[in-house]
Amino acid sequence: MQVTQSAKLANVCYDIRGPVLDEAMRLEAAGHPVVKLNTGNPAAFGFEAPPEILKEILGNLADAHGYGDAKGLPAARRAVVDHYRERGIEDLTAEDVYLGNGASELIQMALQALLNDGDQVLVPAPDYPLWTAAVSLAGGNAVHYRCDEQADWFPDLADIEAKVTDRTRALVVINPNNPTGAVYNDELLRGLVDIAHRHHLIVYSDEIYDKILYDDATHTCTASLAPDLLCLTFNGLSKAYRVAGFRSGWMAISGPKAHAASYVEGLNILANMRLCANVPAQHAIAAALGGHQSIGGLLLPGGRLREQRDIAWTLLNDIPGVSCVKPRGALYAFPRLDPKVYRIKDDALMVLDLLKAQHLLVVQGTGFNWSEPDHFRLVTLPRAADLADAVTRIGTFLDGYSQP
Ligand code: PLP
Repeated sequence: MQVTQSAKLANVCYDIRGPVLDEAMRLEAAGHPVVKLNTGNPAAFGFEAPPEILKEILGNLADAHGYGDAKGLPAARRAVVDHYRERGIEDLTAEDVYLGNGASELIQMALQALLNDGDQVLVPAPDYPLWTAAVSLAGGNAVHYRCDEQADWFPDLADIEAKVTDRTRALVVINPNNPTGAVYNDELLRGLVDIAHRHHLIVYSDEIYDKILYDDATHTCTASLAPDLLCLTFNGLSKAYRVAGFRSGWMAISGPKAHAASYVEGLNILANMRLCANVPAQHAIAAALGGHQSIGGLLLPGGRLREQRDIAWTLLNDIPGVSCVKPRGALYAFPRLDPKVYRIKDDALMVLDLLKAQHLLVVQGTGFNWSEPDHFRLVTLPRAADLADAVTRIGTFLDGYSQP
């Protein structure tokens, strides 16, 4: 008898680790190393865990083997509160903070606790696809709003407004953005908050790249502009602190909570059901948020991340028919392939062809719920020389590439 997956998974898709990975593994098993530019995992590219994080985890390990509080260690939650108070989110106590096995777990909990079947959530296109997948798994429909490549990939406010219906429950903001690298200014954030206000939407603000900013970009917490809006802010240690494998993230609920008591109770049920998040990694949160921010040096001129972003952006734009908006934050580039130059009907096939030809793995734009087969995403994490080599090979592959 066949064992089939549940119907709940019908619209759940996460192409960053999609089927093309099987082909990559086949190639590697056959002795062909593959350059994997598909996941934003700093450790895989030689970024080390900051010593202060390891010190806290190791120093507390012997006492971290029991279940902890379902919401997380109180000291770590208090550190999150202090951190957000400094960033303008005033109305927050440790009770409003949940720690999770990465932001991913908390994103799924937040949506599971909110959505009834058929409820709608406004999600950016392109998006980090976990958001669309988690909405679908929770029974909702992700309604994608357009981010405008011609306007530094800023969300199109008119498009968002036009897509609000009486089933819309929430608005997702990803800032700094994965995959585009956009960093939103306050004016844009105020526009998003205003829409949420007028239509009584919850705002989910994914700010996991808040400290990975280039040039003169600055980051504002959405919730700091919206004290009277229910806002859930997500963040964690995976990116700025480069310890994705420790699975440590947090979620902070701000704004008017009195009318959301039922929703908060739902979140508590889900937090209790998974007992607690990985306890050892929670010990690192206070150390990570306080004091010296070791990411800083990587982002300054001459810093590794900044140099890599520059190289990827410059060399991608040197490829005929390829254009890339300069990423202002995060760890990715999301270039466009001019349809007048490249005939691509199926961008997943393009990614597979690139893998077979150059042993190089990127992710197709449609994997980020972008509707046209004319983009792809690569991570800007490899060392400059490796990244330059990879982008040159993408250019070699694209030269003359066309699908029948
Ligand atoms: N949100 C965004 C925008 C991401 O890019 C990622 C990971 O790539 C996550 C959330 C998940 O992070 P975590 O490792 O904390 O689960």
